[in-house]
Amino acid sequence: MFVGHLAIGVAIKAGSPRTPTWPILIGVSLMDMVDSLFAVLGINQVTPNLARGPYLFFDLTFIDWDHSLLMALVLSILWATLFRKDKTTAWLAGLAVFSHFLADWPMHNNDLALYPHSAAHLGYGLWGQLGTASWVLEGLFSAALLAWAWRRMQAVGVSLTWPAALLTVAFFNVSPWLSPLQWVAPLPQPWPPLLFGLLTGGSFVLLSGMLIWLIDRVSAPARQPIPADA
Ligand SMILES: [Zn+2]
Repeated sequence: MFVGHLAIGVAIKAGSPRTPTWPILIGVSLMDMVDSLFAVLGINQVTPNLARGPYLFFDLTFIDWDHSLLMALVLSILWATLFRKDKTTAWLAGLAVFSHFLADWPMHNNDLALYPHSAAHLGYGLWGQLGTASWVLEGLFSAALLAWAWRRMQAVGVSLTWPAALLTVAFFNVSPWLSPLQWVAPLPQPWPPLLFGLLTGGSFVLLSGMLIWLIDRVSAPARQPIPADA
């Protein structure tokens, strides 16, 4: 899943508008940020496969150090611990990281190990079973979350117009027809894993950073304490 993770982040933020945005939005992206770094470093193994679709065009052959159930729990706890001074932020930051694993579960093609180097793998495989339709499904899922978040944030005077516009552009940019990974996959080695890491990691850094900025610039007044004489 790609845009769906960020939509989950926006929804978590909308559920708790006073919680800082960045622990949530970086939280939902964290597993893919680590994944792309490990792909560049060669710790992860990603194998070009144009038949794979719908927008990844790679088999995630070995991603155990960031996308196994155990590592998802470890990363969630580590990330939550950073925000232990505020209980709500810590819980929501941890939930944001773990939501990534839960959202990947239905989509991934049986490549989510239980723990690093475990033989047992999870992943219901909607990417492989449904192809382009799985991308449409991710869009509907994200749209439903954003619609809910939109209404919640509107109630506290925060408009999600720009975040929603950004996610819409990103969603179509990773469509089966526009995803840059289809041009990366056929390149000679060592380019495919390097560019896979740089493009996916770069997209998550850029998109989560822009979402944090777009949400915080309109929600700053909501965070200010209400004056005592109001
Ligand atoms: Zn992922």
